[in-house]
Amino acid sequence: MTETTIVNKLFKEKFGTSGDLYFSPGRINLIGEHTDYNGGFVLPGAIDKGILAEIKPNGSTKVRAASVDLNETVEFGLNESDKPSASWACYIFGVCREMQKRGAVIGGFDTVFSGDVPLGAGLSSSAALESTFAFGLNEIFKCGIDKKELVLVGQKTEHNYCGVNCGIMDQFASLFGKEGNLIRLDCSTMEYEYVPFNPKGYKLVLVDSVTKHELVDSPYNKRRQSCENAVKAIAKKHDNVKFLADANMDWLNEAKADISEEDYKRATYAIQENQRLADTVIALKKGDYATVGKNVFATHEGMSKLYEVSTVELDFLNDVAKECGVTGSRIMGGGFGGCTINLVADDKYDNFIQTAIARFTAQFGKEPKIYPVKISDGARKIG
Ligand code: ADP
Ligand code: MG
Repeated sequence: MTETTIVNKLFKEKFGTSGDLYFSPGRINLIGEHTDYNGGFVLPGAIDKGILAEIKPNGSTKVRAASVDLNETVEFGLNESDKPSASWACYIFGVCREMQKRGAVIGGFDTVFSGDVPLGAGLSSSAALESTFAFGLNEIFKCGIDKKELVLVGQKTEHNYCGVNCGIMDQFASLFGKEGNLIRLDCSTMEYEYVPFNPKGYKLVLVDSVTKHELVDSPYNKRRQSCENAVKAIAKKHDNVKFLADANMDWLNEAKADISEEDYKRATYAIQENQRLADTVIALKKGDYATVGKNVFATHEGMSKLYEVSTVELDFLNDVAKECGVTGSRIMGGGFGGCTINLVADDKYDNFIQTAIARFTAQFGKEPKIYPVKISDGARKIG
């Protein structure tokens, strides 16, 4: 049975009628990691995996929501005090509340939803869930909220109702994704540009290291602090530098004596990564996927050796990718676990996947998960 059929069938069984179908995808990020807080760009794209929801107003003030995948149904009201206890339902409740805060009048509705974005693997199943409901409810209840504001609805849902302090990349990619395109996005201004991504003869595949390292200190805040230290040192001479994205290696080298060795390494990565993203956009516009792949490998190297956010598992997968002749491979996401993203020529694909599974399993005693993805359209009504 297709996902659509399963959702339709359960909706009919539960509510005795049928509603409108909405879909929003998860996302990948090709290059541009730890660049957002350094004033740079990211380069995400929506994927062909997402959340599908059937939604219909029910004329009451209550929401009845059924998750196919978690086999659970929850009912809740739409006042601030009605927050449901099931965490998955908080995403839907949060979206409704954030839309209400923006003047939307949202009535009760019934919904059944299902998805194929792996949960917690770094492909942003949560943004797919938020965006499906933000986009769908906005149409159904004729709220007239524009798509950039819907991005913020998703982001604020995570902040205010799910306890996750995220940026806007995931929701933006889920809502603005376009088949055959990545999005060069400035996360602080939401300015964006579509960049063609049509790697004929290549596949894009994620390999999940199925490992998350919970660290005692907060490495994310430490990395940010290092970058800020470097900015301060550079700005003594170049006072227009507000972020590392405004600086270059010459300026960082001038300031080298004023910062620690660690801060210097972190800042080197951030400056180089920003440049790599710019170079990658140029290569993509030329259809030069060999250069794209080289840059992707260079990002891994930088994240591993300079920014030091890799793990033995992710470095292992990266080495296997190199040995198998993969065009480009790197850690995707902030680091310390999750997936690698791999651009693989068609004729190298099967061997890479088989080798990665066999070698990783032999080394770590657990099997990595494989998620092939295609760059696809963002949020939409499908029926
Ligand atoms: P991710 O990196 O995938 O976004 P998160 O931890 O941010 O991981 O979000 C995962 C959460 O989103 C799940 O724990 C669940 O509450 C919700 N979720 C995502 N996909 C589904 C789904 N198909 N069905 C129900 N809930 C889902
Ligand atoms: Mg998430």
